[in-house]
Amino acid sequence: MNSTQNNISSASISASNGKNYDNVMIAGDGIGGLVFAGRLAQSERFAGRVTVVAPKGRPISRRLILGCSLRGSAVAPICQGLDIDRDTFLDAVFQSQSSYPACSRATLAMWKPNKNGKPFSPYGEGSWLGGSRGNGTPYAYSTRNQQITTKIRQFAENLPIEFIERKVESLDDLKSMATDKTGRTLYVNATGNPTLFGAPAKKPTRMCFAVQGAFRVGPEGLRAPLASGEIHAPFVRRNGIINVGFLTPFSDPLNPTATWYAILSRPVVADSGYDKDQELKTLTDELLAIAKGGGLIPVDPDETLAAALVPGGWFLDAPKSAPGTIELKQLYSAGVPTYFADGMSGAALSGITAADAVLKGRSPDADVIKMLRPFRASNYLHWTLMGPMSGMTNMILRAIPSIGSKLYAPQHRLWQEAFA
Ligand SMILES: Cc1cc2nc3c(=O)[nH]c(=O)nc-3n(C[C@H](O)[C@H](O)[C@H](O)COP(=O)(O)OP(=O)(O)OC[C@H]3O[C@@H](n4cnc5c(N)ncnc54)[C@H](O)[C@@H]3O)c2cc1C
Repeated sequence: MNSTQNNISSASISASNGKNYDNVMIAGDGIGGLVFAGRLAQSERFAGRVTVVAPKGRPISRRLILGCSLRGSAVAPICQGLDIDRDTFLDAVFQSQSSYPACSRATLAMWKPNKNGKPFSPYGEGSWLGGSRGNGTPYAYSTRNQQITTKIRQFAENLPIEFIERKVESLDDLKSMATDKTGRTLYVNATGNPTLFGAPAKKPTRMCFAVQGAFRVGPEGLRAPLASGEIHAPFVRRNGIINVGFLTPFSDPLNPTATWYAILSRPVVADSGYDKDQELKTLTDELLAIAKGGGLIPVDPDETLAAALVPGGWFLDAPKSAPGTIELKQLYSAGVPTYFADGMSGAALSGITAADAVLKGRSPDADVIKMLRPFRASNYLHWTLMGPMSGMTNMILRAIPSIGSKLYAPQHRLWQEAFA
């Protein structure tokens, strides 16, 4: 084979030239992998030619693992990928509740400790989504991550997708399961393992402490700035970093008395030197103090509270998929999704964008990176305000809260549900 033929042949299987594929093998059945699979399986070209390989079912536990705030912006791409309408999806996830725990407004405030063990109290309150009254269009719904992914998998099983129930060990392992041997199979890594297909291991540059749990309203009722139907983002400034949280209305089949979800997270530079246990304990104390300040009581904290140190990266870190593959999960995992609560939106939107790129013969890598740019820019601004410029952010929120909350407001369209 001469070099020209060689180039043509590698181009024909490159991820940038999707029109040459006619089979797809996907490792991983998370939101990104299943939305991608579903979108392709709805096309004439790929119907019955999409295979998802993953162990079925995640461990069941009352503890809240992974993200629980589903941004409104995730709903439309999930439904497109699964070929269902919005109410079918939300009825399934929220078990036909007549009203979903939707939020159409979001507030923020800085919280500080009080002396004598009293709960934390807020200052610098403002609204960053939905203005002063809310706009009737949901920005987020909250439930356990496992409930969302289980329902997505069930809907995906109605589409012409083949499921193989086992763990993928490597790219060669995935290749060994492909029935097509003509070189027209696209291999997709939709697992959280960045080295599964042979990419070199990279040390995380950022880490994020996170504590989250299920709560209910205490006997004295909710206290401002918490309000029903609203997200509240509490900020706590400690040692030059602003910890950011979300408190949202919530429902969870495994914790039926829980009506609120609360998370507090703290990003750090990976090699900054920290005492992991002490950090998680302090963060847990802060979360419980804020919740108490808002009138919330934890539901069985020994069984539902979860504390973790999650690896992250820089905002612009994006892998280059090797020819014939897509590093799908890595493409949408840049930055610190735990801190920004954009993991599920990123996953769903990237699943649709990457599938459309394959169908149109475009580069999934380039299209996903471009589509996610507004998220990355917004996250970068957020990171700067909460880290290097946390002193200024604190000062503005204290002095002119109405302006402080506007710093956060560009996020509107990255949260809002697109169906309305
Ligand atoms: C504490 C915390 C809080 C967060 N908060 C939010 C939030 O509020 N909102 C938000 O949107 N995001 C949030 N995130 C991020 C969010 O949880 C994730 O980004 C999102 O769940 C990613 O989902 P995914 O479907 O892309 O991937 P995953 O959930 O990682 O799915 C990967 C799938 O691949 C499977 N798999 C893994 N290895 C293999 C293998 N070798 N072979 C085959 N299959 C395999 C797994 O079983 C799994 O089903 C949070 C994350 C954390 C940790």
